[in-house]
Amino acid sequence: MEPARTLRDVSCADDYDPNSLPVERARALIREFLAPVTAVERVHIRAALGRVLAADVLSPIDVPGHDNSAMDGWAVRFADLDPAGTTLRRVGESFAGKPFAGALGRGEAVRIFTGGVMPPGADTVVMQERASVTADGVRIAAGAVSRAGQNRRFAGEDVKRGTTVLRAGHPVRPAEIGVLASLGIAEATVYRRLRVAFFSTGDELRAIGETLGAGEVYDSNRYTLYGMLTRLGCDVLDMGVVPDVPQALEQAFVTSAGAADVVITSGGVSVGEADYVRDLLGKLGEVLFWKIAMKPGRPLAYGRIGSAHFFGLPGNPVAVMVTFYNFVRDALLTLQGRSDVAPMPAFKATLANPIRKAPGRTEFQRGILTANGTGGYSVRTTGEQGSGILSSMAQANCFIVLPVDAGNLEPGTPVDVQVLEGLV
Ligand code: AMP
Ligand code: MG
Repeated sequence: MEPARTLRDVSCADDYDPNSLPVERARALIREFLAPVTAVERVHIRAALGRVLAADVLSPIDVPGHDNSAMDGWAVRFADLDPAGTTLRRVGESFAGKPFAGALGRGEAVRIFTGGVMPPGADTVVMQERASVTADGVRIAAGAVSRAGQNRRFAGEDVKRGTTVLRAGHPVRPAEIGVLASLGIAEATVYRRLRVAFFSTGDELRAIGETLGAGEVYDSNRYTLYGMLTRLGCDVLDMGVVPDVPQALEQAFVTSAGAADVVITSGGVSVGEADYVRDLLGKLGEVLFWKIAMKPGRPLAYGRIGSAHFFGLPGNPVAVMVTFYNFVRDALLTLQGRSDVAPMPAFKATLANPIRKAPGRTEFQRGILTANGTGGYSVRTTGEQGSGILSSMAQANCFIVLPVDAGNLEPGTPVDVQVLEGLV
């Protein structure tokens, strides 16, 4: 599928301000250029975990296959029951997987266990606590059932044969694997994995295992990116650290774009370095250079290099994670074929400490969300919010999202939080 508009069309639009794009607008623009992968593969349902279904799944069978009992008890005919109590004749048993061979006649009862097939003729199950075995037979207590069909599960009540159980675009989670197994389906058709190449830029970066010289730092961004991409089920191509040298960068962009669906870089998009990367990308592809009205993460680039999507993330380690979760994550989900993509959901929590903020940008502060004991949640910041303080991300379990226009906030104010726990 071709994108509806070219990057050039977008950058010429009236409301486009590459120096201060609101978060929502940037997201919407990126969305216009995303077309899901098309290649599919058949994999065993276990291997489908974390993948996206590429074809609708129709049920070959009814689940359950037969009417059966929801309780341990007695299979009976409702019409036989006297509201004042009834004695029935015991004629057999129906175990799960071992049905009663005959049919139930008038005045008869079959001992039945949960999952046992309902004998023909029986329409209702009396739970065992409401019946007792006596010398005469089975005594059903007064008022033991209130309606015909009680405690009976119907064939196909979970899934009906021939119906669409799961649609293309649906993620495969533990529940979906279970549903497929319940249908007797061993393999699923899923989209191929997305290939994502990434590298870090910066002369000051050292790989772990090396010794740090003056002013040097260990490259952490490739590790947070590895983690976030792996959790999303991407095939990752770690292209290493690339120094701020034009030929080296060009080589890295070309190699990455040739090998992957998406190229992610960190660093090199802030003032002073941006011009240089912009020129390079102008030569290799198309790019919208964005300064997004957000903090952290103001410098963020999106574009294309050949057929690959390009995300140029800031260098600061916290900004990498904030921009990944708020822009890259939903773009990758869309490219993976997911039909249910939405930005990270937010809900309200009560702020426990004051926050200083200047209007003008959306801020994503690191927060710690806790249950307040009265059914709600309160949230406090992790402390120092510098975009280089990566340990704040390790303490945090949420982002506190402060809207563009917000100023300082007092404790007690309801604020939006995005929960980080369990992100795919
Ligand atoms: P830049 O965006 O390249 O100007 O980098 C901004 C800040 O982030 C600088 O302090 C860099 O040293 C730091 N930084 C850039 N890349 C990384 C990285 N891969 N790991 C850790 N810190 C980084
Ligand atoms: Mg740099």
